[in-house]
Amino acid sequence: MRLSDLHGELAKRTLKEDSSLIENLLKISDTEEQFHSYLKDVDKRVTIIQLDGKVIYDSMMYELEESMDYHSKRPEVLEALEKGTGFDIRYSNTLKNMRAYYSVVTRDSDGEDYIVRTSLNYEREYSEIKRILLYELLFFLTLNIFIYFCYKNYLKGHLFLKIEEIRKTLEEGAEVTDIYSKGDLWISEFWKIVSEWQKTNLENMKQLELDKERLKRIISSVDMSILLIDENLNTVMKNDALNFLYRGGNQLPYYREVKHIEIIDIIKKCVDKKVALKEEVYISELKKYLLVAVKYLKLNKQYILTVKDITRNKEMLEVQKNFISNISHELKTPLTNIKGYLIALEDAPGEMKDYFLNVAKNNVDKLENITMDFLNISKLENSRVVNLTPVSFEKLKGDVERSIDGILTKKNGRAVYSVNLLDENGYMKVDFDKFTTILKNLMENGVIYNDKEEPVVKVDIMELYDHYKITVTDNGMGIPETEIDNIFDRFYRVDKARTSNVAGTGLGLSIVAEMIDILGGKLKLKSEEGKGSTFTFTMLK
Ligand code: ADP
Repeated sequence: MRLSDLHGELAKRTLKEDSSLIENLLKISDTEEQFHSYLKDVDKRVTIIQLDGKVIYDSMMYELEESMDYHSKRPEVLEALEKGTGFDIRYSNTLKNMRAYYSVVTRDSDGEDYIVRTSLNYEREYSEIKRILLYELLFFLTLNIFIYFCYKNYLKGHLFLKIEEIRKTLEEGAEVTDIYSKGDLWISEFWKIVSEWQKTNLENMKQLELDKERLKRIISSVDMSILLIDENLNTVMKNDALNFLYRGGNQLPYYREVKHIEIIDIIKKCVDKKVALKEEVYISELKKYLLVAVKYLKLNKQYILTVKDITRNKEMLEVQKNFISNISHELKTPLTNIKGYLIALEDAPGEMKDYFLNVAKNNVDKLENITMDFLNISKLENSRVVNLTPVSFEKLKGDVERSIDGILTKKNGRAVYSVNLLDENGYMKVDFDKFTTILKNLMENGVIYNDKEEPVVKVDIMELYDHYKITVTDNGMGIPETEIDNIFDRFYRVDKARTSNVAGTGLGLSIVAEMIDILGGKLKLKSEEGKGSTFTFTMLK
């Protein structure tokens, strides 16, 4: 119970006891004066009120008739009328102090109901309550200030430090460790949330780094040039492919970074219109066909340029286009000759028959050569597999000589060998079919395109640490310098007139070049007209 309630209760009880005393006094008093005489020296105030509120007696106003007014609105009176008793504490304007009032409805000896109201001076209790309330207020205020400072110090010295520690850990991106003590239950809960969040974050960051690295590797491994241009038109990223197209500066505007106007024009179109473009361009300076594509990436406001070198594809397409017509043409000539001479043979005079037969036979040889070359080409196109096996030089030589023996005899030529191998038994590690095909073609050409009395083809084989170096030299007619770049193209023959009597197809050297490439080697040619040619090539072991 609060102190104010306790005081109120005490006052109420006192007044209640007084009321029953007053009721008895009323009963024993014959007159109002007599009644008043009992009460006049009492420090409590007694009021008798009719049920309509009219005051008919007031011990402290007895002499002042005019002040007997109606008390029907007083709270304790209203309560008594309703419940039988009423109580109130308030300031009395009449007596100018705080008072407690108690009212009770009672019945006099004539059977008439009225209200007996007693009241006492409540000033002392009131002051005490006020004083205590003030103490209470001061006490709670001090307590609050104390709690505030303790809490502030706790937050500063403890929680803020922990939070600072958490912040640093997060900033460093380090693995989260437990930094709370067991007592800090709520920090531990908070820390758990942060550390879980940090864990997922770290995992995501690791994944991102991995993805970035993977993307970088993919981008750098593609054989297509990739260039990224930002919204300020500066190049921000590029891979290493086709870097001869660029100047290689750092974050240069694209029109300074890209060397060729043909590509700059396409990028400019895309920048102006923000549309994806794909165009084929020929850079005459480089003798290259390029497939250039530029795209605007709306999301990151960047442009991506990709350039693919399609020169080989273009050339292949060209070769394929010409291939069928070349084949038909190559087959048609010997076939027409064979047919013509065979028909003529029937009616030919005896001395011409041998000649006609010989011509037909030469054309059959030519057909055979063509077929062999086609077979070799088709083998190369179907498989670029290298099949290295140990094989003795003698076996290789035997195979090559069996093939060129006819032409050597026919042209009174000879082959000379100089072999320098690491293996004392004379073994080489080669792709038998490819190596013998290369040698046969080069040696055969050395004899065929040779106008000397005694054509000589020299073969020099030298074994080095990881490869062989082979030189095939002839004393033949040589190749004009202007033709050297072309003779490795399919169907290319130097001078139809000088070779018209030879069963060639123009495919031999293209097969040789392709095979050396498959074997991981390099091919070089030195030639002087009238003196002869030297073909040098390498082969990986
Ligand atoms: P083919 O011999 O069937 O004509 P090749 O591709 O072997 O086809 O040769 C292409 C051309 O290169 C030949 O027609 C010839 O004019 C020239 N050539 C090749 N080898 C020699 C050589 N050793 N000496 C001179 N000319 C050669």
